[in-house]
Amino acid sequence: MNKKICAGVCVILTFIMFFANMSTTYSNAASTSLSSIQQQKNDVQSKIEEAKKEIDKLSSEMTAVQKQISELNAQISIYQDSIDTLQKQIDENEATIVQLEADYEKRGKALASRIVAQYESGEITYLDFLLSSESLTDFISNYYVLGELVDIDNGLLTEIEETKTNIETTKKQLEEDKATVEEQMNIVKQKASELEESRKKLAQERSATENNKSSLNSKMQELEKQEQKLLEEERKQNGAAGYVGSFSGTLSWPLSTTSRYYNLITYGYGPRNQPTAGASTNHKALDIAVSYQPVYAPADGCVDAVITESNSGGYGNYIKIKHSDNLYTCYGHLSSFNVTVGQTVTRGYKIGTSGNTGISSGPHLHWEVRVGSGTMNDRVNPLNYISKETYSKLIFCF
Ligand SMILES: [Zn+2]
Repeated sequence: MNKKICAGVCVILTFIMFFANMSTTYSNAASTSLSSIQQQKNDVQSKIEEAKKEIDKLSSEMTAVQKQISELNAQISIYQDSIDTLQKQIDENEATIVQLEADYEKRGKALASRIVAQYESGEITYLDFLLSSESLTDFISNYYVLGELVDIDNGLLTEIEETKTNIETTKKQLEEDKATVEEQMNIVKQKASELEESRKKLAQERSATENNKSSLNSKMQELEKQEQKLLEEERKQNGAAGYVGSFSGTLSWPLSTTSRYYNLITYGYGPRNQPTAGASTNHKALDIAVSYQPVYAPADGCVDAVITESNSGGYGNYIKIKHSDNLYTCYGHLSSFNVTVGQTVTRGYKIGTSGNTGISSGPHLHWEVRVGSGTMNDRVNPLNYISKETYSKLIFCF
């Protein structure tokens, strides 16, 4: 069995301690640049998030402005229809006026020529007409006929003039109406054009933000490449322990120093060859070689989950403890539980016993540290959270 071989190898303590010291020296240097890259990644990521928010904000502002522009255009179109209708009426009136003027002129000329003819003939026509009357009644009758003829001519001219005046008044009113509508339409057009300017500015701003976001994404990719390279180098130098942290000492070791192999790490945090079918290739935890030993809470907390092996996937019997809103620890492959969900535990409280349940190639404790909301994606290297003193006692054997 692997672990027995490991245990044998690990007896050569001199070599191990030398190796451990070497890797610590290397790790500190690598972790500095790694943490700097991770810091840069965080900065870039938050800038990307800001850019995304900004793009969303600008997009919704643009949508709102576009909606207003459309509404104003609809209003402009209504005004335009109204102006067209008024113009049509004005044109019709204009045509009528021209027609009436022609009519007036024609009738006026006719009357004038008749009067001229009468004048030139020295009223003889009238007189002859009257004298041709055969009786006094006839005479009187002819006299009125003449008067009425002149009145009809005059009346027609007056009527034409009045009609023309009326139509001209209507036309003037229509022109005033049209001017008012045009004025209103121009106000709306001005507003629409101002909004169009705002829309263009927003579009420019959005496009600039998108460019910025795209260069941030490229930068992020570049940082990820650098990070992968450093992690890979570190893994080569430091084995799969992948130490990157600062020994915060937030967590104490979850096993007693009296437990056999309490300090023997058979798999560290990072990529590995699959030890058994179904196990992970990117192992985001520490595997500690103890078999059936008490497991202790590494800090105060509250039991967040207790899941039996049939419901936990490869984890076997599993416990998750919440230490704070930002820090969780998880324990896999346990043989038994000593806590229930919701139970408060203090540092050093026995939460269960290690074992070999779930997907496991031999008895060991699978120990995870999670930050943030405590999901699988939040797993970090537990070595970052133990003290330097604890770390100095660990033996990496893989
Ligand atoms: Zn494991």
